Amino acid sequence: MSEKKYVYTFGGKTAEGKADMKNLLGGKGANLAEMCLLGLPVPAGLTITTECCTDYYANNCKLPTGLMDEVWAGISVVEKNMGLKYDDPENCLLLSCRSGARSSMPGMMDTVLNIGLSSKTLPGLIKKSNNERFVYDSYRRLIMMYADVVMEKAEGREPAEGVGIRKLLDEKLDNYKKEKGYKSDTDLTTNDLKYLSDEFKKEIKKQIGQEFPDDAKKQLEGGIMAVFKSWNGKKAISYRRIEGIPDEWGTAVNVQAMVFGNMGDSSATGVAFTRNPANGANEFYGEWLVNAQGEDVVAGIRTPSPLNNDTKNEQNKHLVSMEDSLPATYKELCEIRDILEKAYRDMLDIEFTIQDKKLYMLQCRVGKRTGAAALQIAMDMLKEGLISEKEAILRINPSQLEELLFPILDSKDEAKQTVIAKGLPAGPGGAVGVIALSCEEAMRLSKEKIVSILVREETNPEDVEGMRAAAGILTARGGMTSHAALVARGWGKCCIVGCEAIHINMDKKTINIAGKEYKEGDVLSLNGTKGFVYAGKVKMIDATENPVLKGFMEIVEKYRTMGVRTNADTPKDAQNAINFGAEGIGLFRIEHMFYGENSEAPLAVLRKMILAADTAERKKYLNELHPYIKQAVKGTMKVMDGKPVTFRLIDPPLHEFVPQTEKGQKELAAELKISFEEIKRRIDALHEVNPMMGLRGVRLGVVYPEISETQFDALFEATLELKKEGCNPILEIMVPLTISVTELKHQKEIADRVQAEVEKRNGMKLEYLYGTMIEIPRATIVAKQIAEVADFFSFGTNDLTQMTFGFSRDDVNVIISEYKDKKIIPADPFQTLDTVGVGGLVGVGINFGRETKPDLKVGVCGEHGGDPASVEFFYTVGMTYVSCSPFRVPIARLAAAQAAIKYEK
Ligand code: ADP
Ligand code: MG
Ligand code: MG
Repeated sequence: MSEKKYVYTFGGKTAEGKADMKNLLGGKGANLAEMCLLGLPVPAGLTITTECCTDYYANNCKLPTGLMDEVWAGISVVEKNMGLKYDDPENCLLLSCRSGARSSMPGMMDTVLNIGLSSKTLPGLIKKSNNERFVYDSYRRLIMMYADVVMEKAEGREPAEGVGIRKLLDEKLDNYKKEKGYKSDTDLTTNDLKYLSDEFKKEIKKQIGQEFPDDAKKQLEGGIMAVFKSWNGKKAISYRRIEGIPDEWGTAVNVQAMVFGNMGDSSATGVAFTRNPANGANEFYGEWLVNAQGEDVVAGIRTPSPLNNDTKNEQNKHLVSMEDSLPATYKELCEIRDILEKAYRDMLDIEFTIQDKKLYMLQCRVGKRTGAAALQIAMDMLKEGLISEKEAILRINPSQLEELLFPILDSKDEAKQTVIAKGLPAGPGGAVGVIALSCEEAMRLSKEKIVSILVREETNPEDVEGMRAAAGILTARGGMTSHAALVARGWGKCCIVGCEAIHINMDKKTINIAGKEYKEGDVLSLNGTKGFVYAGKVKMIDATENPVLKGFMEIVEKYRTMGVRTNADTPKDAQNAINFGAEGIGLFRIEHMFYGENSEAPLAVLRKMILAADTAERKKYLNELHPYIKQAVKGTMKVMDGKPVTFRLIDPPLHEFVPQTEKGQKELAAELKISFEEIKRRIDALHEVNPMMGLRGVRLGVVYPEISETQFDALFEATLELKKEGCNPILEIMVPLTISVTELKHQKEIADRVQAEVEKRNGMKLEYLYGTMIEIPRATIVAKQIAEVADFFSFGTNDLTQMTFGFSRDDVNVIISEYKDKKIIPADPFQTLDTVGVGGLVGVGINFGRETKPDLKVGVCGEHGGDPASVEFFYTVGMTYVSCSPFRVPIARLAAAQAAIKYEK
């Protein structure tokens, strides 16, 4: 025997494993052992460890020497337990061979049932069971599963045109049933099943060129190997990619005594959830099938019956429930449900089989659930005393909260539709509306109260009004931090970007998806949480104003220590954020007043200022701009009364605001009383090859100090006016894109001068915090000096990621997806903070800053402020607060509370 222990047995009321041994035994194996320890009826069996799987692969796909000896020794324990003997002509034990990784990978790996049936054991089992039909039903199932899993998939056979052996055998079965006029598998007679078994074997020989093994020992060994092999099956590999499960984990193999749900009308098989997985209701929810085995329930060959009468639905209301049909067994199952929930203190998903009225448990695991169900179950279990407040908080995945905050597509209706295109899930929730191919069209429709989906190649700041008017946004290009995505998330608007399957034809006013044409005015439905596009109308449901959510968030607040602010630039968004629990604004972008609603007037002045001939002219237009800025600042500060508001000086390159069309440029020329050629010349002069690294941020204020001066003046005036009105404005000013303390001092001198003037003008003193964004790697390194002048830091992690990686966030989509596929980077760094690199710089910046000012306030205002994993990281580096879009505020609050609980010690 080998040195390592590879085999763990379970059965009776004992087991060598237990629930917390998932890493070694896989989820299924560990839970089977635990159910035995809980005294539940589980057919005896053994688990071959995940370690054995790893060794199997390390060993060139050979089972470790001595493994089979250990398995046979384990089988003899199982035999004693069951009073049966494997490969015995009179009293034979049959086995199932089941996969089971650490975390469940439903349907991704393979299982073989009824192993051990051969010409040697068939007659004895027929005699003993006195049920020939059952025996041949089991036999034909074994042949099909074995051919598929062991002889084809595990051998790496790639059948021509994707027609696998299972499909061929299934077709044979279907044709035969049709010929005979049978509706259901249960109509097949003993002779039919015998005949089919022979036919199956012939077909296998023909297709695969090998005999189905008539040797029980060989069958088991083949089964075990095939389960290990299925760890590297195509399906399993791609599932691991998506779910982020490491390849090294490996799967365990569970070899278990068979019990039979296909022995007749008092036998059955079923699956259930201990609570409703869709809405969390505390009701036993499941399905069962009489005279069936294994996957029949989920396979959809027959409509499964409801477990009980309370949970019947439209499809199954005419069928008899287990509650009515087998009341005693049902009662036993209900008791097991209670035992399991008490032991696991969570909602479970269970699989069971009834052999001649006797109940057996075959599987249990913590059940997957929707966000709504997760919330309901956590709050109920807290009330029932099953879990503590901290556990309730940790039970909800923060990103699941998102589902609860927006109107969404009705998942039931959605499941019936086909996805016509997929893109990046940029803005959450669902949207249903008619296609609008231009912003004008979206706005026109909105005036007529028609809901629209704005479909664009990509969006730019000029599109904001159209984006606002549409219910959902769909773009062919762009990444998760593209303009459309940022704007949409800020509003909590449903948005899908980078949907490359879409081809827009503006001449014909159509879009083409996979060869199908859709006209402007046709209806589309979007699932922005998943990135799925549907043709036609999918039902919507409203998910907000949920009292359970409110109760949950009250508990969350008890444990949260890190602050949560919002990124907002309008009174409406600010109010929204307050409703979601924001404690202030971490980022108010002054330039935002030049986009969207009511922006025409200030934008017109801004354009003139940008294209001014000289400083005097620029100052003239800046003076015209002043009241607009003051107005915008006041509006939002008033809503945020008593809460801090961080205003960022104008940041983007100015040419972004210049009209792009010839018509717009001509109009502007006329207003400025200059020629079209002259305006063209001035616009061209603003052109930069690399604007993201050009004249923007604090550089604008250094090159044109008057631009900063006007902003300071408007901010100070707005604050003092609010004070006079009896409000409590808390002003914070933030300088963007700083690289040195000298820049910051340069701007501070302007601010000090303006402050003195404004105070004098108003006869009032003013207080405010002067801080900076840290978003260029250099700034993190010189943070010690910067902190001499700055009262606070706010890390702009979007730009910091862009500058640290040298990835242009507007162009990098293609590269990032290639890099993710090739495992060069683990995730999109614009979505989830690169904790090692960018996060390392954040840590450096904080530490240096606090060397100068030990209680320096530090926050983060990039998109990462609303990403749960990033929020956890920010907690660990001592961030004072995170700031995110209004709709992500509850998510950040939950993530912050979870971090506080996790790192308590
Ligand atoms: P999956 O992980 O895909 O659910 P399982 O290993 O759970 O695969 O097997 C699928 C089904 O096969 C089970 O739900 C059960 O109905 C049936 N099955 C597995 N092992 C046994 C057994 N020992 N006796 C009876 N049925 C079994
Ligand atoms: Mg299962
Ligand atoms: Mg920035």
